[in-house]
Amino acid sequence: MRVLTLIAFLFWLVAFDTWAEVEFECVLSEEQDVPIVKTTAITTPAMVQHGLGDDVRILINETLLNDYSPLMQEFIVKHECAHILLGHVGMNTLAQERQADCLTMKKMIKNEEISTRGVKSIINFLYRESVVNRQRAIALGRCLQ
Ligand SMILES: [Zn+2]
Repeated sequence: MRVLTLIAFLFWLVAFDTWAEVEFECVLSEEQDVPIVKTTAITTPAMVQHGLGDDVRILINETLLNDYSPLMQEFIVKHECAHILLGHVGMNTLAQERQADCLTMKKMIKNEEISTRGVKSIINFLYRESVVNRQRAIALGRCLQ
């Protein structure tokens, strides 16, 4: 009986972990996988950090990221990945932000990682979030047309 309880508990742990954790990845090519590092030292949910040479990684603050829906979390991390793919370095311009949004969404649609409803929910969320993001949402809607 105790063994069964233990097994049930282990199954629960595994199931819970799978359910609770959103896994992120940023694959640039077959050889290059960008490390995603958890930290509490950043004041945004996610950002790109460039090191020496080609060294690059994505930092995520899980506490801030968890304020968003799992789908929005995916979008946020993939948006940072898109900045790397697009070769954006340093402070990004508004145009670069829009480019990253557009590439992210196009890739998610192409890879069937998002439904039409999901696309709409992200655009609506951005539209309502802030004045700056309202412009982002409009630009994102246009880029998908
Ligand atoms: Zn950005």
